[in-house]
Amino acid sequence: MCWKGSEKQVIVIGAGIIGASIAWHLTKAGARVTVVSTSGAGGVATPNSFAWINASWGNPETYFRLRIRAMAEWKRLANELPGLPFAKCGGLCFDLPADKLEAYAAEHSSWGYGIERIGREQAGRIEPNLAELPEFALYVAEEGVAEPVATTKALLANAERRGARIVTGTVDTLALSNGKVTGVVVSGESIAADEVVIAAGAGAAAIAATAGVKLLVETPPGLIVHSRPYKKLLNGLVLADRLHMRQTAEGRIIAGSDFGGGEPGENPQADAHALFETMKAMLHGADGLELDFHTIGYRPTPADGFPIVSRAGGVGGLYIAVTHSGITLAPAVGLFAAREILDGERDALLAPYGADRFLSNP
Ligand SMILES: Cc1cc2nc3c(=O)[nH]c(=O)nc-3n(C[C@H](O)[C@H](O)[C@H](O)COP(=O)(O)OP(=O)(O)OC[C@H]3O[C@@H](n4cnc5c(N)ncnc54)[C@H](O)[C@@H]3O)c2cc1C
Repeated sequence: MCWKGSEKQVIVIGAGIIGASIAWHLTKAGARVTVVSTSGAGGVATPNSFAWINASWGNPETYFRLRIRAMAEWKRLANELPGLPFAKCGGLCFDLPADKLEAYAAEHSSWGYGIERIGREQAGRIEPNLAELPEFALYVAEEGVAEPVATTKALLANAERRGARIVTGTVDTLALSNGKVTGVVVSGESIAADEVVIAAGAGAAAIAATAGVKLLVETPPGLIVHSRPYKKLLNGLVLADRLHMRQTAEGRIIAGSDFGGGEPGENPQADAHALFETMKAMLHGADGLELDFHTIGYRPTPADGFPIVSRAGGVGGLYIAVTHSGITLAPAVGLFAAREILDGERDALLAPYGADRFLSNP
């Protein structure tokens, strides 16, 4: 990878999975990169993620195309960075009534998603420890997971070895000159750059506003329970109607009322205990399984539910990357953003995801 603008100096704000992927792809292409983040390597939403990599139901075809490309980019990234905690472990899905599962399978198969219709016996072979097997389920072998913090840290550590600078600090404002962003101000000190990337998740809108750029980003909460590390009970992702669960590389079984975690109620502790008990009851051999902790994460979600990955029109030197499903999308967002920043080449899959679409909204 050696691109036209590869001598550029770029500041990436954010050290979650999106900032880390962009920083890594930019550094690999030869750019001189500084990552600035309040959190340090790992991010804010990223550590609280369920981390299911998928192009599953509920999305229009244009967004499906971006997601499935991102799934392919995970394989490329894992080849380029051996040891990355990415696993194509497969997803067993029965979280919809049978007619809706059928409709999803028919639509997504016609789009090229590798969905297998399976019955009870086969479901039992895929996940032998499920206490209640579904009569009918869908299995997507291409779905997977990436342990989010370990992946983010690996990307940043590798970027650092390639010359990137990682700075812990909070960006107060973007520095502007003649309608162009020229750097950032961190605790009163300016750092100059040719380009600045806002990959700051829930913090993105406030930073963009300092350059007069309006972003609409919501942050729905999601509760995930984590068991203590335990013997292997699950082979892959289980997307059941009552909850979604998987076992992490560390051996923890994690679950949410769905992958996004679901709204915590008035008493998250009680919700976590109830969810954990539901999860235990769904597994054979889980008698010794103990709840270790729960997390409440806030998913950075642009107001229309789709990613923002683009330059900010009207303000030079500024690129924005804010999205939910950031674990799924990270390798594609990193690759496409680096190409656009360094080469000016915008991938066609990003066409619907410009920052400017919010400008006309009140
Ligand atoms: C409960 C839950 C479940 C999820 N499940 C899935 C899933 O199954 N599959 C999937 O693909 N996605 C999932 N997601 C979404 C995914 O985790 C996020 O889209 C992704 O982590 C966002 O990464 P990010 O790097 O943009 O943000 P973050 O990880 O939040 O990182 C933002 C970074 O910006 C920094 N920052 C912010 N403001 C400033 C500032 N002013 N100055 C300096 N630094 C700043 C922060 O310190 C941090 O480093 C889930 C999220 C949650 C919460």
